[in-house]
Formats: sequence, structure tokens, C-alpha cells
Amino acid sequence: MKKLVFSLILYAIPSLCSAATGRVFSGTPPNCSIILDELSDLPKGAKHLSSPSFKVYSVTAKDFNQGKQLAKANPSGNFDYFPGNPEFAEANAYYHLNRFTDFMKSLGFKGFSHQVPVAVNFRPNPGEFPLAGATDIGGKPGLFITIQNDINLAFDIAIISHELFHIIQGTITRVLDFHFDKLGANNSSLAIAESTADYFAASYIGNPNIGEYGAKAIQAPYLSTLLNGARHPIHRIGQSHFDGQAISGALWELRSVYGAKIVDLTVFRSLGDIEREYVEVLKPNKEIFRISHFARAVLLNIKNQVGESRSEMAKEILLDRGLLMDSRIAPLSPNRENEVWVNAADPTIGYSSSSIQMKFRVPQNAEDAVLNLSHDGNSSDLSKVKLYLKVDEPILFNEDGSIASFTHEFSAADMIILKSQLLQLRGKEIFMSFLNTDSSELQLTVQLHLK
Ligand SMILES: [Zn+2]
Repeated sequence: MKKLVFSLILYAIPSLCSAATGRVFSGTPPNCSIILDELSDLPKGAKHLSSPSFKVYSVTAKDFNQGKQLAKANPSGNFDYFPGNPEFAEANAYYHLNRFTDFMKSLGFKGFSHQVPVAVNFRPNPGEFPLAGATDIGGKPGLFITIQNDINLAFDIAIISHELFHIIQGTITRVLDFHFDKLGANNSSLAIAESTADYFAASYIGNPNIGEYGAKAIQAPYLSTLLNGARHPIHRIGQSHFDGQAISGALWELRSVYGAKIVDLTVFRSLGDIEREYVEVLKPNKEIFRISHFARAVLLNIKNQVGESRSEMAKEILLDRGLLMDSRIAPLSPNRENEVWVNAADPTIGYSSSSIQMKFRVPQNAEDAVLNLSHDGNSSDLSKVKLYLKVDEPILFNEDGSIASFTHEFSAADMIILKSQLLQLRGKEIFMSFLNTDSSELQLTVQLHLK
């Protein structure tokens, strides 16, 4: 009798969400099967893949703002398509976006305050767009996921999760947004943004290699791996994905020591902690946000969960990766830390994201270049500073790709050489890097004006 009452009650309450199913990949191909599973959060009777959190559509032009929801519920209310059809990619993305969101909610994510537009089946011209990205779509944070060389990135859970986490992290903290400070563009923020997106994608799928399927589009084994030996800041090259490697590598190491549950919570909470530290302490005092702020938050959150003595290993890992030391200081010679920074007072020349390396496009109409170097006065040897220029790709410090090298204080003659080289590179994107070959400490301020 009791049972009967129970079932009556159940049937009497109308379900707010349908139990629509979709045909989807159980994981990332090729290591998965095709399954029928519930598409969560769809409103009852939904005709398309729109929920309060997501609207998934296919791009119908060369612009990801233009598209159409192709997947339609069949008469039973289900989304039953097969790979090869664009509708399948919509359902697959919808399914995995929701599952990743549920994973993040289990850590404390409160949900989206807007419906996230998700553009899939987007075929840009080769090299025109990244494989996938989080960006503004119709005035709201959204995602675009491309098809490149016939590889549909909407099939790659790690890529979907990485990009979605960029939107989630924006709801937790604004520190990771692009911003300038007195050292120029703050690439530490961007490095943390990329590395935590990689971390959660990897932890969620339980695989340290990000984008193993999607990377086929560029004939690579993966887009990044958390099994890396990167150390901060020696391996920083001024590109946020690369610069985040030491962080994601450390987080993965922590996960292998303390387990996913503890470290997932740690990373999630640490993002909230740096937001509070930034808003309450750093910003009012015009202090610079550094990777070490995040690393200290990580250590504290581990300590809170496992206790002081068991957290020693975490400290060792973070120290070994160089993350607890002040960031944006490049040790340009062994056992020395030398800071090189870019004055970004004039962002029109296009400084992007580095304290040790500048990337910019030489204006088509550039007529003149003025370079000023100054040091902090602690040591005074500018004579050992070398300047490297390279077209189109970052400069790695152990690489001899220099086309310009100055071994003494920049003289008028050097400036003439530099100017002529820069003017020959009009319209090109170049990387400029400063390397101190001396063993003494040197804190260098760099200002470049292209006129
Ligand atoms: Zn990213």
C-alpha cells in the first residue's frame, strides 16, 4: 500500500525537465562507443538544443555569429542522429557541455547567469581561427568549436571542457582577464587561465593529454600535456598557453599525490581566493598579481584539507616548479633572477603578454624606432644584454635564431641597425627578446616606440 502511494505521488508531480535522449559519443573518439543517453536540463518538449545554460547551433556562414539549430527533436522528443551529420555534433556538444558543467557544480560552481551560445560545425578558412575558443558571441560569453581538416572539434571532450572552463573561470574571478599593470600586459593571469582550463579538462577526463582527437587537425599528438617538465619562469616565452605549462604540470603532479578530489577542490577554491586577494589587497595597493599568489592559494587549500605535515610534498612540488617565487622574473643566467619587462604605456604598438619577450606587428607606415633600456640600479651592466628579433615565432632562449645582437650599451650606431631591421619588417609580426648573458642580476626596463 505504501508503495502505491509513493508511485502515485511520483506520477502526480509533473516533471519540469523532459528526459529527452540523444545519440552521442560516450567519450572522445576513437576510444569510446556511441550511446543513447539523457540530455539533461532540456525543458519539457524542447524542439532544439536550448536550455537555460546552453544554446547549441551550427554555423552556417564564415562567421560564427550566424547559425541555425539544425538538430530537431523527433516525435518522441529525442535527438537521434549519427556521426557525420552536423546534428550529431550539436547533440554531442550539448551532452558533454552539461556533463562538464555538472562536474564543476560538484566543486562549487554556481551555474551560468546567462545562456551560453555554442557555435559548432564552424568551418573557417585554414589558419583563420584557433581550433576552438571562448569568446563574445552576440554580447555574451560563448564558445565556437570548429571543424578543421575534417576533424570536428565538437567530438573532443577535453577541448570542449577547456573552453567552457574559460567561461566558468570568468564567473569566479576577473583577475585572469587580460589586464595591464606597471610591468606591462599581465601574462601571469593568462597563464593561470590556460593552465587551470587544461587542469580541469584533464582531471575531468582523467587524461593529462589535452585534445588528442582534435590535434589530428594539425597532425599533432595533443594540443598540450600536463605531463610536462616545464618550470617557471625559465620556460616562459611570453605566450599564455606555453607559460601556463609549469602550472598545469604542477597541478597534475599534485593530483597524482593527493588524488583528484582534493586537488580539484583546491584549484577551484584557489581561484576564488585569488579573486578576494586581488580585490581586497592587491588592486587597492596597486600591487601586481603574480603566479605566486595563485600557487600560495593552492598550497593553503591543500594544507586545509590534508594538514600541515602532509602538505609538505605540495610545497616541494610548487617550489620545484618555481611557482612559489615571485613571478615574471626570468632567470636569464644560472642562479640569477633578472627581470625584463615591457612598458606597455603605449599598447598601440601591440605588446602582447610577456615580461621577457615582446610580440608585436611592425606598422606598415613605421618610419622610426626608438628603444630605451634602463635598469634598476642594483647592478649596472647593460653591456651583456643581447637583443634578439625573430619573425613569426617565439624565441626560445636556447635557440640561436638571432638576427640582431648587441653586446654593449645600445649606441646610436646600434639604433640605426635596429631601426633599419625593424623597418625592413614592416607589416610583419615579430618577437623581440632580451637576454642577459651576465651572471649578475639585472632588472631591465624596456620601452620601444615605433613611430
Ligand atoms: Zn584556453
